[in-house]
Amino acid sequence: VGGYCPVQKGDTFHGRYRAVHKLGAGYFSTVWLCQDTVEKRHVAVKVAKGGQSFAEAAQDEISLLQCVRTFPACTPESLQAVRDSLTVLHVCLVFELLGPSLRCLMRSHGAQGLPLPFVKKALQQVLAGLQFLHGSCRIIHADIKPENILLRVDEESLQKLLHETVAWSRSTDLGLKKPAGILASQSARCSIMKMGVKIADLGSACWTYKPLAKEIQTQPYRALEVLLGLEYSTPADVWSTACLAFEMVTGECLFEPRAGKYFSRDDDHVARIIELLGRIPPEIAFSWKQKSKFFSSQGALLRISRLFPCSLYNTLTDRYNWTNHEAASFTSFLLPMLEYTPAKRTTAVKCLQHPWL
Ligand code: ATP
Ligand code: MG
Ligand code: MG
Repeated sequence: VGGYCPVQKGDTFHGRYRAVHKLGAGYFSTVWLCQDTVEKRHVAVKVAKGGQSFAEAAQDEISLLQCVRTFPACTPESLQAVRDSLTVLHVCLVFELLGPSLRCLMRSHGAQGLPLPFVKKALQQVLAGLQFLHGSCRIIHADIKPENILLRVDEESLQKLLHETVAWSRSTDLGLKKPAGILASQSARCSIMKMGVKIADLGSACWTYKPLAKEIQTQPYRALEVLLGLEYSTPADVWSTACLAFEMVTGECLFEPRAGKYFSRDDDHVARIIELLGRIPPEIAFSWKQKSKFFSSQGALLRISRLFPCSLYNTLTDRYNWTNHEAASFTSFLLPMLEYTPAKRTTAVKCLQHPWL
């Protein structure tokens, strides 16, 4: 209770789902590859941690997922489908089985980023998923990041991947981490362009019209308004998607904030944002009712005085050797997603119409 559910290979949930192999773990849960003994296929079962708060979080996730599935005909392919939910001490959610995450794919591709045609296709799918979540469901995903975007691989490749993963885990005692090599060999066999993506993990999601948690999103992908403690809504997902896009294209995080001796990780994050995107206007810096945690009354950062500004365009041409034309067109796609004022930020719908895609 209060921790991970002690699942072991061979355990059966509800007399139906037999645990085969652990697929991953997050803050809230562990996810197991299971054999559905009724429908005779593999599924992913997300087992919430024990304790009331995790159980409540899992129940919230179930309601959000149910909303997404209310009109199945309209739900885009790029949103993960939930099949079933059950409670056996811990709340469990049963999902269609998907492949590895974009994080995993990027790792197996090394530092140079993913092929541009794949990135564009994947982003179209992520944005279509967000368009539906934001527009039709009024849901903020609140945790868009490579770990939560999963590959949709065809049935045959998935079977191969499964066999290799299970065989590999049998041959070692470690059993938990999938070696990148499996994905590399798998993606070499099946062209990366054949893969699609799905948005997973509604575990941090919330309704746009309900009182919300103060802090959402994973730090490097956290929108400015969330960092500053201001009100946030669906534009926060668009910010994270910009960070995701940059990372897929370059292989490196857009923002990688670190705490220093005299400043916090949040201080560094705000500083990095200013270096890339310019000064934060006073109406945003001071729109919080309380005194700003970050800025002096003159609008300077309180704990970091030396900044090294470098625009997105220059970052692409200087650091990644992009041509002027490539840099200009990607910059024109990305900058509107990183607009400081959430109400002025571009939306998933508008991003989908951008010529860069
Ligand atoms: P977080 O800490 O990111 O909030 P979480 O506990 O909410 O994580 P998920 O992100 O839903 O859990 O799942 C954790 C991991 O399990 C994923 O990153 C992924 O590797 C794996 N996983 C989740 N769902 C599936 C699925 N349908 N098919 C295959 N693997 C999955
Ligand atoms: Mg997750
Ligand atoms: Mg989660």
